[in-house]
Amino acid sequence: MMNKSIGVIGGGLGGLTAALRLAKNGFKVSLFEKNQSLGGKMNQVIHGGYRFDTGPSLLTMPFVIDELYYYLGLDRKQYLDFEPIDPICQYFWDDGTKLSAYTEMEKMREAMTNISIEDAKNLKDFLLYSRRIWELTADTFLYTAVHETGKILNKKTLKKLLKIKEIDPFRTVHQGIGQYFKHPKIVQIFDRYATYNGSDPFKAPATLNIIPYVEYVLGSFYIKGGMYQLIENMKKLCQKLNVNIHTENHVDKILHKSGRVYGLQIDGEKIDFDYVVCNNDVVTSYNDLIEGYNHSRRKLNRLEPSLSGAIYLWGIKGQYQNLAHHNIFFSNDYKEEFQKLFNSKKTPDDPTIYVAITSKSDSNHAPVNSENWFVLCNMPYLHKNWNWQESGVFLRKAVLNKLKKSGFDIESQIEYENILSPEDIYQLYNSNKGSIYGLSSNSRLSAFRRPANRNRDIKGLYFAGGSTHPGGGIPLVMLSGKLTADLILENEGLGNKF
Ligand SMILES: Cc1cc2nc3c(=O)[nH]c(=O)nc-3n(C[C@H](O)[C@H](O)[C@H](O)COP(=O)(O)OP(=O)(O)OC[C@H]3O[C@@H](n4cnc5c(N)ncnc54)[C@H](O)[C@@H]3O)c2cc1C
Repeated sequence: MMNKSIGVIGGGLGGLTAALRLAKNGFKVSLFEKNQSLGGKMNQVIHGGYRFDTGPSLLTMPFVIDELYYYLGLDRKQYLDFEPIDPICQYFWDDGTKLSAYTEMEKMREAMTNISIEDAKNLKDFLLYSRRIWELTADTFLYTAVHETGKILNKKTLKKLLKIKEIDPFRTVHQGIGQYFKHPKIVQIFDRYATYNGSDPFKAPATLNIIPYVEYVLGSFYIKGGMYQLIENMKKLCQKLNVNIHTENHVDKILHKSGRVYGLQIDGEKIDFDYVVCNNDVVTSYNDLIEGYNHSRRKLNRLEPSLSGAIYLWGIKGQYQNLAHHNIFFSNDYKEEFQKLFNSKKTPDDPTIYVAITSKSDSNHAPVNSENWFVLCNMPYLHKNWNWQESGVFLRKAVLNKLKKSGFDIESQIEYENILSPEDIYQLYNSNKGSIYGLSSNSRLSAFRRPANRNRDIKGLYFAGGSTHPGGGIPLVMLSGKLTADLILENEGLGNKF
C-alpha cells in the first residue's frame, strides 16, 4: 500500500486530473483550492433562472476524458453525456454574409461554396494536410512529456520529427492556410483556430493547423447539462477515491530545502508532503509561492503569455432563432485585430465576438422565452499600456453595436449581466497577466519553451495545467495532469500500472 502523500495546489482541470490518477494508485492526496468552488476557469454562475459556464464552451478530443474514466475503472457514458453540436458554429460578417459550419465534409463544402467555389474544392486537401500534422505530432507533443529527453530520443519519434516539412513549423498558421484557401472570409474562419490556444495566426507556426482536423474530423462536443458537469463529476470521483478536498484554502508557499520539496504553507499553516503537484500557473507560482530561484523566475517572466479575454454573461429576454449554440461575429480586419492584441496590446476597435448559448441545447439554462449568452472577446494580456476601466466602457458599446449591425439589437433585452475582465481572470485564477491559455504559441519553439511537468529546480515538485506542457484547453490540460501523474508513478518505480 502506497503511503506517500501528495499536496495539490489548485482544483482546476489539471489539478483534479492528477489528483484522481494518483489517488487511484493509492497515494494520500490532499487538494487545496483558494476559491469557494472547484474548476478554476471551468466554472459556472447561476442567477435568477440563468445558468452560465464561465470558461470552456467547446469540448474537443473527448476521448481524453473517456480514457480518464477508463483508467479509474469506469465507463464515462454512465456519468457524462457528450452531445455533438450541429452546425458546429455559425459565422457572421458585418456585410450580411453568413456561413454555418458543419463537421460533415459534404455539408461544410456546400456551405463554403456560397462564399468561394474554389476554396470549397480544397477543403478535403486542407483536412488531409491537417490530419498529417496530427499523425506526426500528437504522440510526441500531446501524449509525451517532451522535456524528458529519454522519452523523445527514440527511433519512432525521431523518424516523425524528420518529416519537419509536413509538420509545418516554418510557415505561420495564416501562410499555411493560404496554400489551400484564398477568399479572405474562408481564410479568416481557419485562421481563428490559432486562438484556441490563445495565439496569433499571423505569428504562430502552421503546426497549429492541426486544430481544424481535431474539430472537424475528431469532432466537437457539448457536455449535456453544461460544461461544469465535468467538474461536478470529477469532484464526486475525488470523494470516492478519498482525495481530501479543501476549498477556500490559499497556498502561500511551496516549502523546499536543499533543492527538494517538503510541503506547503496554507493560510499560514505548514503541512508536510512527499510530492507537490502545482496546478497554479507556473509563472505566478514562481512569482508568489517559490522562494529563491531568481534566474528561473526571470526567464519565465520573459515568455509571452497567451491572449486574455473579456467575458459578458448576459441573461437576455427573447429567443433568437438565427443564432446557434456557437456563433462568431468576425471583425472586418483580422490582421489589424491581432496587431492590436499582441503588438500594441490595446483593445481592438472592431473586436471579433464569440457568443455561446447553452440554452439552445439545454432549455432549462434560461427562463422561458429567454437565452443565456456567454460573450467572449479576445483581449491583450495585462500590460502597463492597457487599462480595463477605459477599455471596458468602449468594448461593451462596440460589442452591442456590432451585434446590432447583424440584426441582434439586444441592449434593452439584457436583464442580467456579469462581466469578467482580464483583471478578474488574473485575480480569480492567479493566471499570469490574465492569460487564458498559459503561454502563447506565437513562436516556433513554444512547445519546448513551455515549462516542464517535472520541475528542474526543486525535486518532488511537478506542474499540471494550461501553463505547462502540453498547453491550454480542456483535453491538453487533462493530458498534462496525466503526464504529471505518470512521472510521479515512474519516480516511485510504479510505472504505468493500468
Ligand atoms: C473564457 C474562457 C473560455 C475558454 N474556452 C475553452 C473552450 O471552449 N474549450 C477548451 O477546451 N478550453 C477553453 N478554455 C481553456 C480552459 O478552460 C483552460 O485551459 C482550463 O480550464 C485550465 O485548467 P488549469 O488546470 O490549467 O487551471 P485553472 O482553471 O486556471 O485552475 C487553477 C486553479 O488553481 C487555483 N489556485 C491558484 N493559486 C492557488 C493558490 N495559491 N492556492 C490555492 N489554489 C490556487 C485557482 O483558484 C484555480 O482554481 C477557456 C478558458 C476561458 C477562461
